[in-house]
Amino acid sequence: MRFLKYLKKINKISYPITLLEDAKINFKYKKMLDCVKMLCHAAISFYLKKLNVKDDITINVRHLKSKIIGGNVELGKKTQNKHVYSLNLDLTMGYKCLLGMIAHELTHIKQIHQKELYLDDSQVVWKGQPIMNIENYKKKICRSRKAHDDLPFEVEAREKENSLLNSFLNSTELKNLKGKDASLTYIINYL
Ligand SMILES: [Zn+2]
Repeated sequence: MRFLKYLKKINKISYPITLLEDAKINFKYKKMLDCVKMLCHAAISFYLKKLNVKDDITINVRHLKSKIIGGNVELGKKTQNKHVYSLNLDLTMGYKCLLGMIAHELTHIKQIHQKELYLDDSQVVWKGQPIMNIENYKKKICRSRKAHDDLPFEVEAREKENSLLNSFLNSTELKNLKGKDASLTYIINYL
């Protein structure tokens, strides 16, 4: 409890968030602590580089109030055409889980951005092949966890999730954040 009070106190100071050259990352959740913003910002920048997403994109991070899923990316016409992505995350989860979740969801952003995954008028298209119609897709992912997990773009996101997370945890980018902010240093030491 005392530590939480301390965290709240020191987080009243606001820190400048350095932006990636190309990607614009906006945090839309007002209650998000600055140290968590810095951590998420560093992870998003790192993953985008690893995933080879270099173009001009905007990522809006929002808090997802769901007890069922930890994160998602919205896929729709606006996202596909304007390169503006909504990254929704359950920001109450543990930091390591959160960093893994970001890696997973950014793999989906990469898939959408590189047009590997998109929606045409009625179909979900993966790597040039229509894989199912949109209505079926909605039904399928609601009906069973396994059906969702077996989708090819989910298989790729799960594979990338662990390797991206591990390289971020061992990265100089993460180590360089230590010492910049007391609560962030504390978080990194216990990741
Ligand atoms: Zn997924």
